[in-house]
Amino acid sequence: MPLFDFQCDACGTVREVLLRGEAPGPDACASCGAPVRRLLSAPADLKRMDGFFHKDNPSDAQLASRGLAKYVNRGDGTYEKASGSGPAVMGRDQLPH
Ligand SMILES: [Zn+2]
Repeated sequence: MPLFDFQCDACGTVREVLLRGEAPGPDACASCGAPVRRLLSAPADLKRMDGFFHKDNPSDAQLASRGLAKYVNRGDGTYEKASGSGPAVMGRDQLPH
């Protein structure tokens, strides 16, 4: 069964949705009602590190519930893990972008 991620550009909420056949996905964010777009499937590592790019700072619990790790910029080019699974510290060149 295909599983797709839908992301809200307004608040950053990502929802995984099972789609059967040609069933349309959700068209609005469950949190804020803004339009959502379907994300291209990404390797698990990229999905896990998605927390890097959420400018709106979802709570650690929200991240954990999505299987995402949260990293905090230490200001010296490295990122320290705040929650979730993954390496404790990563350098900027280890980011997926
Ligand atoms: Zn939203």
